[in-house]
Amino acid sequence: MSVIELLAPAGDKDKLAAALDYGADAVYLGGQQFGLRAPAANFSVADLKQALDCAHGRGKKIYLTLNAYLHEHEMASLENYLEELKPLSTDGYIVSDAGVLSRVRAVDPQREIHLSTQANTLNAAACEFWRRQGVQRVNLGRELALDDIRAIRARSAMELEVFVHGAMCVAYSGRCLLSTALTGRSANAGACAQPCRWNYALVEETRPGQAFPIEEDSRGSYLMNSRDLCLLPLLPDLLASGVQSLKIEGRMKTLYYVAAVTRVYRAAIDAWLADPAGYVCDPLWRAELDKVSHRPYTTDFLPAGDATVHSADSRYRRTHDFLAVVRAVDGAGRALVEGRNRFHAGETVEVIGPQMRQQEFVVAAGEDEQGEPCSCIQPNARVWLSVPVTVQPGDLLRREKDHGDGWAVGGGTNAAPAAG
Ligand code: SF4
Repeated sequence: MSVIELLAPAGDKDKLAAALDYGADAVYLGGQQFGLRAPAANFSVADLKQALDCAHGRGKKIYLTLNAYLHEHEMASLENYLEELKPLSTDGYIVSDAGVLSRVRAVDPQREIHLSTQANTLNAAACEFWRRQGVQRVNLGRELALDDIRAIRARSAMELEVFVHGAMCVAYSGRCLLSTALTGRSANAGACAQPCRWNYALVEETRPGQAFPIEEDSRGSYLMNSRDLCLLPLLPDLLASGVQSLKIEGRMKTLYYVAAVTRVYRAAIDAWLADPAGYVCDPLWRAELDKVSHRPYTTDFLPAGDATVHSADSRYRRTHDFLAVVRAVDGAGRALVEGRNRFHAGETVEVIGPQMRQQEFVVAAGEDEQGEPCSCIQPNARVWLSVPVTVQPGDLLRREKDHGDGWAVGGGTNAAPAAG
């Protein structure tokens, strides 16, 4: 484990493996209750046990999200769940609710506790308060500027974690009622419908059905559509500020997203650790972050306005499509790939792997697992391909988008960001 922890999300077992392979020191994931990502596959208690064995075998850590705010009628279930989890060697629980914190301390007093960003910790006094309550680490609110983080570091002994990358809410993280009010789906239950991303219009009370556009431009108005956070340009300052953990948002993101973003921050952190004075942000790293599905990036949460709200549209953009995962290699230059998007023999694709390994090649016709010839790889199909470049299990194939503008709709997720 490096001095600075790189903490990546894992929505399922495949993404956990990708996060570990591509450079995370620790991974956060949800169980099947109280974890604020209802639509994610999440981990059963048995899955979590396997995940812990896998991560600990590689010297890495796993934190479990228990960061919902609970109603009284849910507390008994929480206690049962905590009892079930207690025998496992989970490295820490991420909580938001003081009630959940108190029950963890009562049921499982040795367990390390991290305070979620949902708790909106913005000052050193709050950090010290939580430290007295048995919290070992706080994920600071994204509302903070770098100077605020430095000041907190100077005045508190609390272990500090900050988000470096990923989607943001215009509201205080999942503590937002917009989705509940408009759809009945609660952000606090991990089921946000993201109404802050919708295109709004004006309707006069006596003219139902006549929507008057509120136009900032011809596309409409997306007053509450937050940009995505990307603190790569500020990484040296952040690392020097004394925070212990840098967290990537995205338990609902794809395996490709988790791998591609994690490896960029791994490379950047390692470069800074090796030579802080000589650190230079490699343009390749920033370019790689444009290749995954994202909204326009910002380095700010505050002040609100153009810096953080993208009012032109709420679409995701990316320059590359994720095509396949390499599941095995046979020592004869062939790779067993499992499709995610359709691609064909004759196309130029790129294989990417940990430590910024990436190389293009032209796809040749392959054969399926029954030995039948195959020149088109469909989603979920498993095909043996001859690959004329270095390739390892866990590598990913991608293809540059051919329509040039890098725009893609629906390439992201449909859950509230920021939990954890
Ligand atoms: S993503 Fe959900 S929780 Fe976040 S601001 Fe939008 S509606 Fe609110």
